[in-house]
Amino acid sequence: MVLAELGGRIAQAMRSMTSKTVIDEEAVDNMLKEISSALLSSDVNVKLVSSLRKNVKNRINLEDLATGLNRRRMIQQAVFEELCEMLNPGKKPYQPKKGKPNVIMFVGLQGSGKTTSCTKYALHYQRKSWKTCLVCSDTFRAGAFDQLKQNATKARIPFYGSYTERDPVKIARDGVEMFKKEGQEIIIVDTSGRHKQEASLFEEMQQIAAAVEPDDIVFVLDSSIGQAAHDQATAFKEAVSVGSVIMTKLDGHAKGGGALSAVAATSSPIVFIGTGEHFDDFETFEVRSFVSRLLG
Ligand code: GDP
Repeated sequence: MVLAELGGRIAQAMRSMTSKTVIDEEAVDNMLKEISSALLSSDVNVKLVSSLRKNVKNRINLEDLATGLNRRRMIQQAVFEELCEMLNPGKKPYQPKKGKPNVIMFVGLQGSGKTTSCTKYALHYQRKSWKTCLVCSDTFRAGAFDQLKQNATKARIPFYGSYTERDPVKIARDGVEMFKKEGQEIIIVDTSGRHKQEASLFEEMQQIAAAVEPDDIVFVLDSSIGQAAHDQATAFKEAVSVGSVIMTKLDGHAKGGGALSAVAATSSPIVFIGTGEHFDDFETFEVRSFVSRLLG
């Protein structure tokens, strides 16, 4: 993934800095310039990059560094902490509770990987012994129910949907009610996507949310859309109360930085990342371990 290149460039910038015998302000500036250019070329938002640059500089105490004391570690620590800070949404995502129904509604544009992510999410919890199930309330896209049904059958997850009912709100309500009665613990409601953000999509999302009263709304974002992620994340957040984000397609040639920084800018915690088309290509997202991995 291209993000690995970004990590490599940042790590390289830190190495070339720490191998110098004299570390002065100029050396720090050069390192920060290289890190900033790596972040910008990965589509990370320019404002975030400039604040990271300023904050790393504030964290590094040049007087301590001049003595050579733990030079390398201090610089790495400062860059690491600021990268984490940049991705830190400042709030915790919803944690499902055992022994009760947790209704989780998925939203996102068509093609973002929503239906695939619903199944991955269900499977993730099923493997941890949660009773999970899927409701398909997408009546907009032909074949949506078949796709969810196929996924659910393959993953052996109970599902609900209809070939004849056209009202997505009714399907969502009926499906959630049925699964609540069955004692299911994680009831996932897949909603329809549309090709672009449009009023009718947001209205439908709001109606479904009002009908099923979700405990969490998960916004699925395609990481390959770069800087456009900012407007999209903001629009969805304004329409419904998004509590968590799943970023998909981080395995592709996506630069990823645009989407990562968009999510950070909207203060939405990323809960999982999608790294491929298979159900197993799904990872829990945790800022600190993501950044450590990024830096290699
Ligand atoms: P939806 O329209 O939002 O429900 O999107 P789908 O779940 O149908 O996914 C659209 C396409 O993206 C499908 O071909 C999926 O296999 C693919 N896809 C979903 N998630 C990922 C991912 O993390 N990586 C890759 N490479 N492809 C993905």
